[in-house]
Amino acid sequence: VLLAKKLRDATDRDKRREAILDEYRELFNTPVLRLHALRDAVVEQMEAGLAGQPGGLMMLPSFVDVLPSGHERGDCYAIDLGGTNLRVAHVRLGEDRGSTEAMHIREWCVPPEHFDTDRGTLLRFVARCTAEVVREHCPGGGGLHSRPVIGFCFSFPVEQTALDNGKVLVWTKNFRGSYLLGQDVVAALRSELAAEGLPGAVVPAVMNDTVATLVALRYREPHTALGIILGTGTNCAYLEHVAAIGKLPAGFRPRTPSMVVNTEWADLASTHLPSCTEDLWVDCSSTHPGFGLFEKQVSGLYLGEVARRILLRLAEQVDLFGSAVPGLLARHNRLDTAHLAAVDEDDSPELSGVAAVLEEVLGVRGTSRQQRQTVQEVCQLVCLRSARLCAAAIAGVLKRIGHPGGNGTAGQDVPVPRVVVAVDGSVFAKYPKYRQRLGAALADVCGQVAAASIEMQLAQDGSVLGTAGQSSKGVRAKTL
Ligand code: BGC
Ligand code: MG
Repeated sequence: VLLAKKLRDATDRDKRREAILDEYRELFNTPVLRLHALRDAVVEQMEAGLAGQPGGLMMLPSFVDVLPSGHERGDCYAIDLGGTNLRVAHVRLGEDRGSTEAMHIREWCVPPEHFDTDRGTLLRFVARCTAEVVREHCPGGGGLHSRPVIGFCFSFPVEQTALDNGKVLVWTKNFRGSYLLGQDVVAALRSELAAEGLPGAVVPAVMNDTVATLVALRYREPHTALGIILGTGTNCAYLEHVAAIGKLPAGFRPRTPSMVVNTEWADLASTHLPSCTEDLWVDCSSTHPGFGLFEKQVSGLYLGEVARRILLRLAEQVDLFGSAVPGLLARHNRLDTAHLAAVDEDDSPELSGVAAVLEEVLGVRGTSRQQRQTVQEVCQLVCLRSARLCAAAIAGVLKRIGHPGGNGTAGQDVPVPRVVVAVDGSVFAKYPKYRQRLGAALADVCGQVAAASIEMQLAQDGSVLGTAGQSSKGVRAKTL
């Protein structure tokens, strides 16, 4: 009798586990109709933002309206302050543009104490690292009389009135506090550089990472129209008609008809987002509750945490890991996107890679193949949702610029123009299955034929290359 009861309980648990998984299978494999609704919400919010109306995306003009010609010469530097790392590059222009031989990059992990920007030390840290690199490369050691040219790739929203200034609007990702809010980040950087012994530093450009990524690929790919980051955070920049940017400062005289606009799509909020209870938890426990709801379902800072929350639910409600809930599974941010990718990418017959992550990260030993398979499916679903949402947002931007991929049915009879999307960021670069799912999702959302004309290209080091090029002298030769 006891055995029969045990069996009944087990079957019952299996059924309940499947029922819970079905919820996520349905929601995260977001149906195309819903993705089309989301795409249209993107277009609406882009247009509201361009006009400066409430309820829109930030849609920040970048003041990048001309590109370097490729004939620039000389040395320059690029600082890349992202969500996790600081990189400082020395770039020698004039030697085979875009090749890494002409470039030397140093990288630091941003020490976590700087995430609390109220300490006021973030740019000092940036300036100190930069001064080190300049001294290494500058003839004469970057002394008082040198005038190094240093571009700043700053991966946060800023409001600009020219290429070389930008008021910080908000901190995002894990950065918090009120440091520099409403102030010019370039002026602040200059004064920190001066304090580090570089009073003559010239900072000709501050650029969002998406803008720099777009620019970097466009040197060699004139069809590049979008620049996307899928990393710690997510965002997209694209080429817009200057005439459509209603919020440009009065009296602004465009040099060319187009300008790169930073959408800040991280902040997209819509009832069409396929949200679940776990998203609420992720949001509440994040650095900026209520902000960046799209980013929290898409980018690398959050994917692992979403998966952890779902696994925790399965552990609590249907004993996924046996009668006790593993203690480490209950810890905030215990899983990160690298773990999620490792679990997802494991193609071994016994899922030994999944077992290794469960052991090392969650302290769970001796799992069955079925348990490992469930864990893998959860990770796959979290990745799938992100890729599908990203595809919908890309389709929104394509719709805005009039590319047929934006209307989801195009391309039956008329040829579809090729469009190149420059992408960088750890999620895209280091997670092959993410890329595959994004490609499949684009085919779903944009239609097979149109999707075939959309080329996603990895623009590695785009942030520093684009920033360095744009910062070099004489960037007025070639129109975008
Ligand atoms: C920031 C964007 C940035 C993106 C990718 C977001 O959190 O708001 O400015 O481009 O992350 O780094
Ligand atoms: Mg970056």
